[in-house]
Amino acid sequence: MVTKKKETEAIAQKLGFDLVGFAEIEKLEVETARLSEWLNAGYHGSMIYMEKNREKRFDPTTILPSAKSVISLGLNYWQPGDFSPGTGKVSRYAWGRDYHLVIWEKLKIFEAELKILFPGCETKSYVDTGAVMDKAWALRAGLGWMGKHTNIINRDWGSWFFIANIFTDLEFTPSIIVEDHCGSCTACIDACPTDAIRQEYVVDGSRCISFLTIENKGEIGVEFEGKMEDWIFGCDICQDVCPWNKKFKQETKSPDFKSGINISDEISIPSLNKEFDPDFFDKIENDQFKKIFAESPILRSKLKGMRRNSEFIKRKKK
Ligand code: SF4
Ligand code: SF4
Repeated sequence: MVTKKKETEAIAQKLGFDLVGFAEIEKLEVETARLSEWLNAGYHGSMIYMEKNREKRFDPTTILPSAKSVISLGLNYWQPGDFSPGTGKVSRYAWGRDYHLVIWEKLKIFEAELKILFPGCETKSYVDTGAVMDKAWALRAGLGWMGKHTNIINRDWGSWFFIANIFTDLEFTPSIIVEDHCGSCTACIDACPTDAIRQEYVVDGSRCISFLTIENKGEIGVEFEGKMEDWIFGCDICQDVCPWNKKFKQETKSPDFKSGINISDEISIPSLNKEFDPDFFDKIENDQFKKIFAESPILRSKLKGMRRNSEFIKRKKK
């Protein structure tokens, strides 16, 4: 099993993943009970899809019956950059190419290489999609601990990393679970402008700016007027204030995540995907939006959503 682990770690490293850990397949009793409490509290807002596939989230063998282990992977996306005053801010994870596309390409190669090394092995990969509790597996695979803002924090990288998981019938010695290092800190809870972190380790998704500006398909409630701190796509406040991120952030090695790629040459945009003039989205048409953001996470909000978000931050300026 040790050899298998070393060879698998070598694939992860070769593909540019910054973190890799291994967990044993088990039913996620505690995690799914917590998810049920969270759903019952209505903290998922209009993300109804979160209510579905509870059995699959609970028992990964419903996804891959032969599954024995999870290979959990982390890919750092942090890059430096400040925002210009008066612009609509975009969360760091969305400055470059959509991580689903970037990671999916890597996972396809990862699975193919595993199958060459271990002929006949079965694999099934996920990156923030499907009925998989990605953070729960990252925790169990020792990638880090869950911060009070509910992101996973790694001692060497902070929390600026994407998580992907590969379910497999291969067996690995499980990684050591990392203990919580939040201690008495409450910086993220104190800094959240919409009071979305209702208590330690519990985020009301329906109050979180990430939900309000991305998943939310309706209007943004008046109670959030003046509280958006100029975010028009996602929000990084709780991660920005975290002492672990301040101390341990490292610049990403992935060129795909660097601001400035993947923009049409027809339209010039200052600072590219990082920030936008609040009038920018009023000036482009839908076909231009789709072209400009074809491979960007911003596509998810649609032009309608980005106009709504930009309009909302303008309101407090009147
Ligand atoms: S992302 Fe922003 S709004 Fe959401 S919990 Fe963190 S600080 Fe609060
Ligand atoms: S800001 Fe403090 S409490 Fe919040 S996740 Fe970071 S260390 Fe934990």
